[in-house]
Amino acid sequence: MAESKNYSGGCHCGQVRYDVTADLSQVVACNCSICMKRGMLLTFVPPEQFALRAGADNLVDYQFNKKIIHHLFCRECGVGSFSRGQKPGGGEMVAINVRCLDGVDATGLTPTPVDGKKL
Ligand SMILES: [Zn+2]
Repeated sequence: MAESKNYSGGCHCGQVRYDVTADLSQVVACNCSICMKRGMLLTFVPPEQFALRAGADNLVDYQFNKKIIHHLFCRECGVGSFSRGQKPGGGEMVAINVRCLDGVDATGLTPTPVDGKKL
């Protein structure tokens, strides 16, 4: 069952900071071209469960392919701690890089593989 908890997270240099309510039993390891290169472990939340606290001016937007997703990263340290995009059925979603959450040991999670390279 869903176990949503409050987390704080952000980039490496600390200029980008956010709070998020997320359920880390629902973590995805995607094999699409960018997730593979970034080593991403993701969890998805609606925008109401996400609050950017600092660093909006530090974010650089990277887009490719269909340009549906905003692969944001910090211009100072280069870390992509979250992305913004649309769900397949419409509606906004925020993709959280679980590795960027404070106090979360990503090795203890059981990610679900997603065949993103076929999407
Ligand atoms: Zn940074």
